[in-house]
Amino acid sequence: MIAHLINTDVGNRGVLRVYLDYRGQNPNFLHNSARLFLDNFGRVLIVTGFPIPPDMIPETDGPPGALALYRTVTLLGGEAEILAQKEVINAMKPFQKALSLKFAREPNVSSYDLVIFIETPGRAKDGNHYSMSGLPIVGETFDRIAEEAQALGIPTIGIGDGGNEIGMGKIRDLVVKHVPYGEKIASVVETDELILSAVSNWGAYGLIAEVSTEVGRNLLEDWEEAFVVRLLVEKGLIDGVSKRREPSVDGVSLNVHVAMVELLRGIIGYNLKS
Ligand code: MG
Ligand code: MG
Repeated sequence: MIAHLINTDVGNRGVLRVYLDYRGQNPNFLHNSARLFLDNFGRVLIVTGFPIPPDMIPETDGPPGALALYRTVTLLGGEAEILAQKEVINAMKPFQKALSLKFAREPNVSSYDLVIFIETPGRAKDGNHYSMSGLPIVGETFDRIAEEAQALGIPTIGIGDGGNEIGMGKIRDLVVKHVPYGEKIASVVETDELILSAVSNWGAYGLIAEVSTEVGRNLLEDWEEAFVVRLLVEKGLIDGVSKRREPSVDGVSLNVHVAMVELLRGIIGYNLKS
């Protein structure tokens, strides 16, 4: 149910066909991701930030989900750090005190129990990074973190919505089959688990909803989606689809994101009662 909901393709960006095939292959992807999270949340590195061409300003999809995941880790008693481009870190600064945010500088991958990538450009087959429309992405990218974690046997979760993100290497064939420019943009970088969603923030909220159900506690209860997105935009992030500095995500208006969080909260509440 939660996996269906977070793959509701409100923005009509084509994730639905990828989702239906992925779900056929791996029906328990969200549950498996929640289990991996719950088995390894002691010390978590959360990586986010997607620079949007042509100006390479990072977008509003990713950072809200990263903040929500950070909060979830700390609510459960674990520790987390966020790794992102400097523009994203700057935009997150207003939340630093309230969430006791810690940022990673030169992360030593071996010191973490789990690495989560949310909406982070992943290298394509030709070695470059691309936007959904096939434009090259210039700037700081984090593939090496995924590859180091893999080499060290540290578990990884990828969250993405388009096919060009870290983690999508796991289903590259589906991205090539269903996504426009798939052959060019599809990432080859894999993670152990992959959460597919129509908006990557929703993938994070879906994971938190699944974890909430597992632990019997509503961890999305006080999440203020509108406040978070508005403040990140005020501090410089842009909508990755409209490419404008406006409080929306992936071209979808803020009230839809607020409603998505509300629906997930409702589902958690229902699951906790039944
Ligand atoms: Mg994306
Ligand atoms: Mg997105």
